[in-house]
Amino acid sequence: MTTPNHPLVNISAATHGVLLELAYATANNVAGQIIYARALCLLHRDAEVCLRRAVALAAQSGCRLKIFDAGRPQEAQLILWQTAPDRAYVADPQVGSNHTRGTALDLTLVDSTGAELDMGSGFDEMSPLSHHFNTAVSAQAQANRQLLLAIMEGAGFVHIAHEWWHYALPHPQRYPLLSSEALGPLNPMSSAY
Ligand SMILES: [Zn+2]
Repeated sequence: MTTPNHPLVNISAATHGVLLELAYATANNVAGQIIYARALCLLHRDAEVCLRRAVALAAQSGCRLKIFDAGRPQEAQLILWQTAPDRAYVADPQVGSNHTRGTALDLTLVDSTGAELDMGSGFDEMSPLSHHFNTAVSAQAQANRQLLLAIMEGAGFVHIAHEWWHYALPHPQRYPLLSSEALGPLNPMSSAY
């Protein structure tokens, strides 16, 4: 589903076969507060194409994707920036997050029972333990991270060094930052339908 005003697609379990556990629709996140009034998972249509590939690649390994966050309005990014315990892990709203372009998502792998694979640190755990290729986490967790890396890069996303859960489209400058107002009826920060 898209609207004429913006290029975002609504991602759901029914349409994409993913699991959703949107951290910012609950208070269980780094900000410690509910940021999204509605648990909407939104991606730019270019990223949505890659997500479909990632879902298929994960299935080849008997896994599914569980998404923690995707498109994030500029207003939500400002709240995260103001509340972040470590700004090394949150993009300055002045610069802009790729989440705010709708081209980034945070996710992990789950097995056939829906259990999360051990990644060695929690989503949004802002520590060196969350860095790719960190040998301080177990060999199994390193292997699980590398499986997620292979799936996501195979699907067309790129990784960043400090967050095993974060993937985005390359060349993000091609995509504009999106405000909550621009999202219209798909604004997750609004409780209005
Ligand atoms: Zn992220």
